[in-house]
Amino acid sequence: MNPIKILIVEDEQLVADDLRETLEYLGYDVLALVASGEEAIFTAETLQPDLVLMDIRLEGKMDGIEASFEIQSRFNLPVVYLTANADRATLERAKASQPFGYILKPFDERTLATTIEIAICRHKTEVEVKEALIAAKTNQQIAESKSQTKSQHFYMAAHEFRNRLTIIRLSTEMLKAYGSQMSEQRKQNHISGIESATDSLTNLLENILTLGRSEADNFPFNPTPIDVVTFCEEITQSLQLTLKEQYQVSFLTDTKSCIAYLDEQLLWHLLNNLLTNAVKYSPRGSIISLWLTCKDDSVCFQITDQGIGIPPESQAKLFEPFQRATNVGTIPGTGLGLAIVKRCVDLHKGTIHVDSKLGKGTSFLVRLPLKGDYVSVEFCSQ
Ligand code: ATP
Ligand code: MG
Repeated sequence: MNPIKILIVEDEQLVADDLRETLEYLGYDVLALVASGEEAIFTAETLQPDLVLMDIRLEGKMDGIEASFEIQSRFNLPVVYLTANADRATLERAKASQPFGYILKPFDERTLATTIEIAICRHKTEVEVKEALIAAKTNQQIAESKSQTKSQHFYMAAHEFRNRLTIIRLSTEMLKAYGSQMSEQRKQNHISGIESATDSLTNLLENILTLGRSEADNFPFNPTPIDVVTFCEEITQSLQLTLKEQYQVSFLTDTKSCIAYLDEQLLWHLLNNLLTNAVKYSPRGSIISLWLTCKDDSVCFQITDQGIGIPPESQAKLFEPFQRATNVGTIPGTGLGLAIVKRCVDLHKGTIHVDSKLGKGTSFLVRLPLKGDYVSVEFCSQ
């Protein structure tokens, strides 16, 4: 164990030398001898001793008690007084400075050693208790803010459900009450409204369930070797099939095959959400592209569109649940897709960045580590 480092503050040179000798004999490391309160503060700050042995009457304007107040409050170092002053007034002032010991001169070696050991031990305990209290407070604050956010999300979800249910209820009531007198077109409008609100409810429910499951501590995260090139080819081809001629979905890569250890289901959620957003927020006829790059230690997916873009003020909270940008207009959405994407990225210990220009387009860049520590990687370039 390293010897305890001590700073001696004593203005009588002979006493100071004698004290140093005794302390060194007892196995302590004397860092410095200083004679004034001002020097004591400066040296305590620069040398950071484990303990300060402080005389009360000192050279200079500041006495030992004033210096001790400063040292304990600024540097949180334990101070033990070693003094010939035993009068009541000095004792009262010294008590107020909460010293870790008070030794009267002349002292004996045993009292000196015991007081130092007890002071160091008490100080260490106090520091640990303080740290534990700070950690407990921080944890409590985190828990409170998490539970506050959770209940906010709960109310937002309830609000979204209510909006869609109101549409269904109103249209049903209208059809029931006036259906026989309505034109075919109006009837059809109400039925379409009910259908789209029902689809939207299903989407909302599925997104909430996915997000809820992914936030659970025991969420199953199963990375398996996946050829990301084939995966991206398949997901873009199937999207192109559903979109028919309305959009052009292109997949680009400079790699023939790239094996990465990823959770297949999460990767699907991640890419599907980003690609469907790219489509949803772009005009018909535009190009949506997925770029895949394999590096030594990571795989990058870049999804780019030529759509409406995201206003800068909406970008900061984009990955939080129920956040939608101000320019979505009537484009439907629940505001949960990107929260799910972020969760998928976090579970893979990856990163996600967005680069967007209003009215010009958006690009999301996702970088995921290529492998866990336990597996090897193969990929080859064309
Ligand atoms: P859903 O939960 O059904 O996906 P959503 O698309 O509104 O609904 P997110 O996918 O979380 O929700 O996206 C959040 C918001 O980010 C969107 O509402 C939209 O404002 C903005 N956004 C996301 N991707 C794009 C994009 N490619 N272009 C423009 N805006 C986008
Ligand atoms: Mg979306």
